[in-house]
Amino acid sequence: MYKIAVLKGDGIGPEIVDESLRVLDYIATRFEMEFEITEANFGGSAIDKEGHPFPVTTQKIIDQSDAILLGAVGGPKWENAAIRPEKGLLSLRKYLNAYCNIRPIICFDPLKEMSPIKLDQDRKVDICFVRELTGGIYFGKKGIKESEDTYAYDVEAYSVSEVKRISRRAFDLSLSRDKRVTSVDKSNVLESSKLWRREVISNSKDYDVVLDHMYVDNAAMQLIKNPYQFDVILTNNIFGDILSDEASVLAGSIGVLPSASVGDKKALYEPIHGSAPDIAGQGKANPIGMILSVAMMLDNSFNRKDVYNFIYEAIEKTLKLGYGTIDLNLKYIHTTSEWTNQLIETMEKTE
Ligand code: NAD
Repeated sequence: MYKIAVLKGDGIGPEIVDESLRVLDYIATRFEMEFEITEANFGGSAIDKEGHPFPVTTQKIIDQSDAILLGAVGGPKWENAAIRPEKGLLSLRKYLNAYCNIRPIICFDPLKEMSPIKLDQDRKVDICFVRELTGGIYFGKKGIKESEDTYAYDVEAYSVSEVKRISRRAFDLSLSRDKRVTSVDKSNVLESSKLWRREVISNSKDYDVVLDHMYVDNAAMQLIKNPYQFDVILTNNIFGDILSDEASVLAGSIGVLPSASVGDKKALYEPIHGSAPDIAGQGKANPIGMILSVAMMLDNSFNRKDVYNFIYEAIEKTLKLGYGTIDLNLKYIHTTSEWTNQLIETMEKTE
């Protein structure tokens, strides 16, 4: 029995999580697996119900779970909240010590046409970001000093141990892929990047992988110019945040990409997109990123690569049949739950 804490969150979060749980239900029956699902408040909805985006009640549910599924948080309603929903997310990642964010850029063949980047029909983009998630500028010292010329600051700092643990994750992951790691930094300017590069090189010596380095500005260009050159991209927190969103356009829609945030304890699985308040409650949300996040959970936390592959292939087949949500320019446009019906039908027809 696997215990899963489910945080639906805000905006389209509840819609896509509900669909992914329908898929999980089907998986439970088909693969004879047992899941115990416990919902907990998180994000803006938790502020409304419990006065805090990451309440103690939610912490307790997480403590008793094996893995966590999250929809998305945030929205205009909580823009001026004392503690914003997004702060709850940073606290959750820190609470789990989930320092490693894995973001595969999955480019399904039927979606190649949807990318604004002209992609080669005969080649496949297959990049996986390994992003440091609990350090760097998002967690560094910050403040604002009111004066005649008021200034504000955010400090980017990394320690040797932080770089060591994230770089080893990237090298380990690359061993199950093409054994190539590109480490992104700005070591021509930043001291923190100089340390980053030095430690990445030092840790690479224990691995039989090809390591190269790229300045972040060049990486931003190369991702669009020649995305085929990359296998694993290793980055700090802020560079990974920006570059992985940029790379999401290669997949055709931000709605199709999943992520896993892992550390020493249990892991958190969520799509890479936000709460999309502009389309919330209209059945327009693409559930694929959330469903693939469930698939990543089954593989990474419960060791079922076979089930991951089953879900992945069923999604690709459904897209090939021409079924999509409104963000995908496919033959048949479905609502969020209609699309999931199609996916489950495809699964049922798969031997
Ligand atoms: P967003 O990712 O929510 O939306 C960007 C665009 O992509 C929008 O046009 C949206 O409609 C579209 N989109 C996103 N997900 C989609 C899906 N599954 N299907 C179809 N279209 C989709 O980013 P944003 O608008 O910058 O942020 C909205 C809110 O989400 C903000 O409050 C932000 O802070 C929050 N946010 C949360 C997370 C998270 O919970 N992990 C991540 C990013 C942003």
